[in-house]
Amino acid sequence: MSLSHSRQQFLAYETHGDPNIHYGRKGGIFISTCICIGLVICAVLVAALVGIIVYYITYFKISQNSGHDFWDETEPFGQSTAVAADLRLPKSVQPSFYRLKLKADLEKSKFTGDIYITIKANEKVKEIILHSKGLIIDKNATLTEQIYENVQTIQSSKVKRQVNESSIESTSQNTTNNDVTEFPMLNSTLESEPATISPVNTQVIHSNVRNIKIISITESTGDRLVLALASALVPDIDYTLKLSFEGNISNSLTGFYKSTYKDSNNEIREMGVTQFEPTSARAAFPCFDEPAFKAKFEISIAHPQNMSVLSNMKISTEESVPGEPNWQWTHFERSVDMSTYLVAYVLCDFKYLETSYTARDNITKTIRVWTQPAFISKANYALNITPKLLAFYEDVFGVPYALDKIDLIAIPDFSSGAMENWGLVTFRETTLLFDEKEGVPGEKRGVAIDVAHELAHQWFGNLVTMKWWTDLWLNEGFATYVEYIGVNHIEPEWNMFVTLTRDKMTLLRSDSLKNTSPVSRKVIDASEISQKFDEISYTKGANLIRMLNNTISEELFLKGLAIYLDTWKYRNAEENDLWKAMSQATRSTDSLKDVSIVSFMNSWTRQAGYPVVNVKRDYATGNVVFEQRLFCSSPSPYTNMEKQIWQIPISYTTTDVPHEQWSLTPKLWLKERSVTEKLNLKSDHAIYVNVGAIGYYLVNYDQKNWELLSQALKSGAIDDPITKAQLIDDSFNLAKTNRLEYSYALGLTSCVVNGEDSKIVWEMLLDNMSFLKHNLKSTSGYLYFQDYMRLLLAKQLEKLNYGLSKPADDNEALLVENLLLWECMVEGPRCLHWAKAEFRKWMEQTDVNDNPIPSYLRSLVYNVAIKYGGREEFEFLWNIFQNSTDPTVKTLIISNLPSTREASLITFLLEKSLTDIPKQYAALAWSTDVPASTRLAQNFLINNFDRVYQVFTNLDSFTFPNILNMVFGFISDTDELDKLKRFALQHKEKLLPMSQTLQKIVDSANLRITWIRKYSLGINEWFKNYMQEHTQQNTTTVEPEWTQNITISISDSNTTASSR
Ligand SMILES: [Zn+2]
Repeated sequence: MSLSHSRQQFLAYETHGDPNIHYGRKGGIFISTCICIGLVICAVLVAALVGIIVYYITYFKISQNSGHDFWDETEPFGQSTAVAADLRLPKSVQPSFYRLKLKADLEKSKFTGDIYITIKANEKVKEIILHSKGLIIDKNATLTEQIYENVQTIQSSKVKRQVNESSIESTSQNTTNNDVTEFPMLNSTLESEPATISPVNTQVIHSNVRNIKIISITESTGDRLVLALASALVPDIDYTLKLSFEGNISNSLTGFYKSTYKDSNNEIREMGVTQFEPTSARAAFPCFDEPAFKAKFEISIAHPQNMSVLSNMKISTEESVPGEPNWQWTHFERSVDMSTYLVAYVLCDFKYLETSYTARDNITKTIRVWTQPAFISKANYALNITPKLLAFYEDVFGVPYALDKIDLIAIPDFSSGAMENWGLVTFRETTLLFDEKEGVPGEKRGVAIDVAHELAHQWFGNLVTMKWWTDLWLNEGFATYVEYIGVNHIEPEWNMFVTLTRDKMTLLRSDSLKNTSPVSRKVIDASEISQKFDEISYTKGANLIRMLNNTISEELFLKGLAIYLDTWKYRNAEENDLWKAMSQATRSTDSLKDVSIVSFMNSWTRQAGYPVVNVKRDYATGNVVFEQRLFCSSPSPYTNMEKQIWQIPISYTTTDVPHEQWSLTPKLWLKERSVTEKLNLKSDHAIYVNVGAIGYYLVNYDQKNWELLSQALKSGAIDDPITKAQLIDDSFNLAKTNRLEYSYALGLTSCVVNGEDSKIVWEMLLDNMSFLKHNLKSTSGYLYFQDYMRLLLAKQLEKLNYGLSKPADDNEALLVENLLLWECMVEGPRCLHWAKAEFRKWMEQTDVNDNPIPSYLRSLVYNVAIKYGGREEFEFLWNIFQNSTDPTVKTLIISNLPSTREASLITFLLEKSLTDIPKQYAALAWSTDVPASTRLAQNFLINNFDRVYQVFTNLDSFTFPNILNMVFGFISDTDELDKLKRFALQHKEKLLPMSQTLQKIVDSANLRITWIRKYSLGINEWFKNYMQEHTQQNTTTVEPEWTQNITISISDSNTTASSR
């Protein structure tokens, strides 16, 4: 699955800095998926993520209200160590095959079905427990024992399927309520290969069948269905369990749900869609709904003839439904072994574009991209890249794509970015479709990333699946890593590995929160499974895999992957199975003989957070001490975390070595607390550790080395963009936690004052400045901050002609958008004037569809127009939002409307999010402007909790936590924090499934509150002094100081910094 929520929001926020400006994914760095409009979405998210992402935490002692608070610094909110008794199904009964026959009636919003599950017990049990959620189960279930006898026969695949089906009918017809009934029947083997293989000389099975009486069927906790049996199941014998059921096609975004769109005649068209990951297959049919219960599926769906039906596999046959004219059965081929969360089916009246490619197994495989008819021309880009990506992955992994076809479909109402259902990948419209004419670079990149991510899952996740949600990161971290490799292959000019590095730097901030989680983490309760779909599983997982790759070499890494995939295909694995495959690949490599890959990687995946490596040089002896410590943004981390030791591969170089000769390969290992090496470096040159920023850690140096690094930046000895970005980012992280003087970090930022073309340098600089911006906003020194930022931006903006000329390429378009965004955010008069005029030009057009604003600057212009405008601008956009059928347009608008500062308009939007705004856009209405509007939103949420909670939790399990992030993610004073805590206490039970989100919001709030008290005064002084010094001279020619000798005074008394 790719996230449209946390991950993207997170990135968006980090990219654009300001949650108010909903830019989302445009900025250049996106990572993931939802692209297309990613912008938009992101924007929203921006806000949303905040929480998650947010920056660091600091200890903050809960004061007066502690009696009302339900958590304190010693115990995270909602923490529990006891595993829920109903979390897992017993392993005593295992399914091997599902025959699902479903009748879907969209008009009545109902479905009915029969399911025949072939099961086997591995011990004598008198109970069968499986999952079912919200379904009505017919009490006339049957359980029949299959006794086989092999018989040679010649059958075509189609005949075989029909035999199988008719035999199942006879089973049900012969059901009796006796304890045991015996009768002969003909049945094709349920364990046979898929029907497409070997149509002749197949073995068909002659079996005797007897019924086992089911005494009772009861619903239990944890969505469990418990069947009590009159006699025990005998181990190693196949039984067929038949259940009839019915349910509602839901109005949510999970399970089997309904989506709608307006056709060209403005008529509403309905479609049926599934979204099962992580635990919603059970809401569509009774099943063993855990990833390790893999089985084959054979699906048939009865539906109106005028609709297309898609599922994981190809259609095998179609037939009419007796007695129901205009209805038909569509039968699909039997699947390979797969997990329930990957099952999918869609009913729609869409159009498709088709292509094909010849796979490594020499089979020509069909690729189709489906969309509502009006958008068919936007399907070309996805159609174009899909065969390239599949062929590339087959080469890299050495394993062919397992199925004969793949469908990619754009769903009008969709929760996440996309979902990797095997053979039938579902997407948001904005993450699959791209308009070559109107689309912006960020949207195109988003489509490429999402498609690459979901296709990577066809191997990582679908072919080899994690055993349990603890190792979700094996699915998501791998798919994320591979998405960068895939996109880099098809669009090399995008420099995707720079993007990956940037995403890592961004993540390092939230991963330093006190209550961050390890990549591999226990699941205590089923309701928390959704919380694992976060940037830790995705981006940290991806970066740890990248670090491993870099450590052992690409060649051995790919060799290990091939071993892993081949060993575990169609099965379930856990992380150590991957590390063992890697160990096998590296066994005969001398340079790695002292490295245990299992313990190396376990030290990173099973421990929360990450280290800072302190590098201290003895300039006289040439000795260098490398020491590791937990990097936590709170001054009072948990004691057990402080004891953590990582196995750190360390690469380094010195600034006298030319950049072309820098090596990314680790030269030493830090496996203890510290190690001393005699390196004999030249004392007048800096050492630079973690070359290329590939290792998942920060580096701090002694003061002299920091000064040498600053000089190297100034002299151009360091001109590698990643290194520059890394030094800026590391220094801000260190300063924020009192490990480095702030003047070093601030001094480094002036390296862009004479112009800087690199996107990553700007991104990291602006991300870090964004933290300052939020925190300083209510202080008197904010004016100096604004002046300083305008000075930093001026040269490069001039160089890029303020975005008024067509950008040279996608990277430049993304950079200029980000810079203009900042120019407007710090209220640069030129930018505000320009943006307002652009918007006015549009409003004056006779046809609003004739939008004169360059498409890649629209989000920015809308934002400024709404923020500084009034009701007129708001209503103009709101009307377009309501009337447009284009999801890109809608997303862009709804992401920017909340930037209004009019209280009545904010309340209007929030109300509409509960009623009129279509569900997948509704959460975006909550991405309000910080701080004034977020307080309104907080109060609205508190006063309308039940309604808001119900609307959003009914959609899926991801949206409501995002609302919390948007509303509370930027808390920077104790009053607001106390408000949050009281709110959470009041609704503790309902909020427990999002406890991690809440705890990180609190961690982040504590960090901000402490930071403002401690640093704001001194930092304001720094900006003031800098501006005074530099405005007295001719600022266009002055060479700025790299590090000023201004010491930032640290004060615990809150002076200029008001705590709002
Ligand atoms: Zn995924």
